[in-house]
Amino acid sequence: MALQFTLIPVTPFQQNTTLLWDDCTLDAVLIDVGGDVETLLAAVAHHHLQLQAIWLTHGHLDHVGGVVRLIEKIEVPIYGPGKSDDFWLQQLPEMTARYGFPVSPVFQPTQWLVENKVLHVGSHAFQVLHIPGHTPGHVVFYSAADQLLIAGDVLFRESIGRTDFPQGNHADLLRNIREKLWKLPDETQVIPGHGPMTTIGHEKRHNPFL
Ligand SMILES: [Zn+2]
Repeated sequence: MALQFTLIPVTPFQQNTTLLWDDCTLDAVLIDVGGDVETLLAAVAHHHLQLQAIWLTHGHLDHVGGVVRLIEKIEVPIYGPGKSDDFWLQQLPEMTARYGFPVSPVFQPTQWLVENKVLHVGSHAFQVLHIPGHTPGHVVFYSAADQLLIAGDVLFRESIGRTDFPQGNHADLLRNIREKLWKLPDETQVIPGHGPMTTIGHEKRHNPFL
């Protein structure tokens, strides 16, 4: 009953969409559906999975720009981000047009996420942690049993998310990383929103922003 995942970089921003599944039940979720929807659906089909939901870390276009096109093809619930990212979702038509993405309409998630909500993929549970700073409603997904963190644009290998956007807050980001992520076990694997994977232990020792 292992948890499996594969990273699929999407859009010109090379955002890491995570396809996450339970290889016993074949239940799957897609995390941060930024675009390239046909590629994502091909990966679901390739592994013979049943897509159960979309989870979203935050409202930026490269993380959510493909959601509407995906749910037009497979109707699944959308969990996240936090409600204070609604202003980003409301700007999706303008932002996708400005950056040359296929234009996305505005959408509402099935459920906004809050700290400590628990989401499941098959028999695997993920805890929601609220890490504002890059965006005010940014959430991350953590499985203690599987020692895995899906970090969105909070934490990258030896870097952190930008905080120069509207409602960004550098101090909030650093405080929340220290208070909520640095207490996770060092061996926790981290899937960032862009670039290569890392671990909590590596970032505690080598991240120059903290
Ligand atoms: Zn972002």
